[in-house]
Amino acid sequence: MRPRITLAVLCLAAALAPTLTAQDGPQPRVVTPGATPFAPPSDAVLLFDGKTIHGFTRTNGAPNACKAIKGEMVCETGSGDIQSKELFSDAQLHLEFNIPNMPNQKGQMKGNSGAYLQGCYELQILDGYENPTYADGTVGALYGFRPPFVNAARKPAEWQSYDILFHAPKCDAQGNLTTPGSATVFLNGVLVQENTPLPKKGPGCRKESICGPGPLLLQDHSGFPNAPHTVMKFRNIWLRKLD
Ligand code: MG
Repeated sequence: MRPRITLAVLCLAAALAPTLTAQDGPQPRVVTPGATPFAPPSDAVLLFDGKTIHGFTRTNGAPNACKAIKGEMVCETGSGDIQSKELFSDAQLHLEFNIPNMPNQKGQMKGNSGAYLQGCYELQILDGYENPTYADGTVGALYGFRPPFVNAARKPAEWQSYDILFHAPKCDAQGNLTTPGSATVFLNGVLVQENTPLPKKGPGCRKESICGPGPLLLQDHSGFPNAPHTVMKFRNIWLRKLD
């Protein structure tokens, strides 16, 4: 015999259900968090899902020459800078990177890559473990203009993470900058940049105009003089658009 839901039960359930009042106001949109703190939440855009490298192209639009291997995107010297097809303005970003152990190199030659926010502001990727270099060129630096608060580097060949809150520069209808952008950055969970104002154009900016959305660009440092062969690995790259 099927159980019968009586009117009394329905009334009781309705009485116990949470209710909103006018004073509670509009409710926040529901976002389901990832299973772990680094896993993409339900509203994230995956730039690299661990399977295909098609979320990125060369900066000239040619196919991405990096390889997807066992959930990692492996980029060797000569594969060229790559940029996400997805463009963003204000965003929360997450990426993980693995710098090779290069004991015969030092300074800027040791595991150099970079994550260019909107293709214009390089958040430096470099082996920062017992590898002194100029402060605004080390890992956690916004290259060329702001050193990190602290050196939170892990050893080479260990996975590291960047979590970024990026506010894009704002421009008027004529393309003039009205509000500079800013970046807050955690390296391996440690605050290294807090609301750092971005200059009109970062050193080495790859973007014609800072107005309008841009990509996440990952640097192949091989174009620089005497740059050694480097195999960089990336994984779990995602963003949440905030605008
Ligand atoms: Mg770099």
